[in-house]
Amino acid sequence: MKPFSFIRKFPKNSKWILEFTQGPHSAHLFQVKKTLVHKKTPFQTVDIVELFRYGKTLFLDERLQISQADEFLYHESIVHPALLTHPNPQKVLIIGGADGGTAYQTLKHKSIEKLFLVDIDAQLIKLCQKFLPEINRGVFKNPKLKVMPADGRKFLSETREKFDVVISDLTAPLLEPPSYLLFTEEFYRIVYDKLDKQGIFSLQADGANHINNKTFAAIHKTVGKVFPIVKGLRVFIPSYDDCWGFIIASKKYDPTLLEPTEIKTRMEKRGLKGLKFYDEKIHQSLFVLPKAIQTAIAKQKRVIKDNKPLVSFE
Ligand code: SAM
Repeated sequence: MKPFSFIRKFPKNSKWILEFTQGPHSAHLFQVKKTLVHKKTPFQTVDIVELFRYGKTLFLDERLQISQADEFLYHESIVHPALLTHPNPQKVLIIGGADGGTAYQTLKHKSIEKLFLVDIDAQLIKLCQKFLPEINRGVFKNPKLKVMPADGRKFLSETREKFDVVISDLTAPLLEPPSYLLFTEEFYRIVYDKLDKQGIFSLQADGANHINNKTFAAIHKTVGKVFPIVKGLRVFIPSYDDCWGFIIASKKYDPTLLEPTEIKTRMEKRGLKGLKFYDEKIHQSLFVLPKAIQTAIAKQKRVIKDNKPLVSFE
């Protein structure tokens, strides 16, 4: 069979998505098997499609968020390294995460008594419940989960609750709303104040590769103005075609010092099983960042402020 050649002409009646992730000069190309949702909510444009290559996939404002084929790489990475670093997480807050994947992974920890999910888009939560059961796996029916459609920053500023872990599972900080004011020093101070004294903050922090790492480094620098311990980690996600960056910020415990034996003990104690990617052996390797990323972090001067927000693609 002839190997795939340059696409010169798309086959008749075929449907494709060209996703521009790093500015206007390069893109990802996906062939669409079936369109399930195309809807403008008050906050963003929602597309839920079935791709030939990655299965059911959520796009928000034309940026790929999560796909059925490899969502576990993202959701296990944003949840388990942070939750296992905390000795006994009982109350957790997820900001964003309407697809339910982060909530599903969080509630695998039997120590959790209460999980709040605060996402700005009530319509999106409903659409994900209906069209992405393969990702949320019924988590929205779990009695421990309290879902609140609200702006994450407003909720956190006003709540009297204190949390063991806060997870920021937000869309990229583009200039227009809804998420850019949740990537600033002022917001991270609000998070810090609503964490308990052993509190841990885990956040998705954009791409972290040799070419695209400015957003990741700026977020790392900004979180570092507020938290004493800040560690970057990354995992390659095929549907993003990128090494995705996460950050764990901590008041007391350093996630990179957690030994495999202790991780294994905590996983067993919490009944944490059925993971497809993360385990006690891979934990520390996630935090090993190549020189280019370490240099980008060390050299980064940019502290993201409310009056000087960050725009991805910079
Ligand atoms: N995996 C994705 C990524 O890496 O970018 C994130 C997925 S999750 C679906 C992103 C969520 O952030 C969306 O559900 C969106 O509604 C939510 N969001 C954006 N701005 C928000 C805000 N200010 N408060 C709460 N949720 C927000």
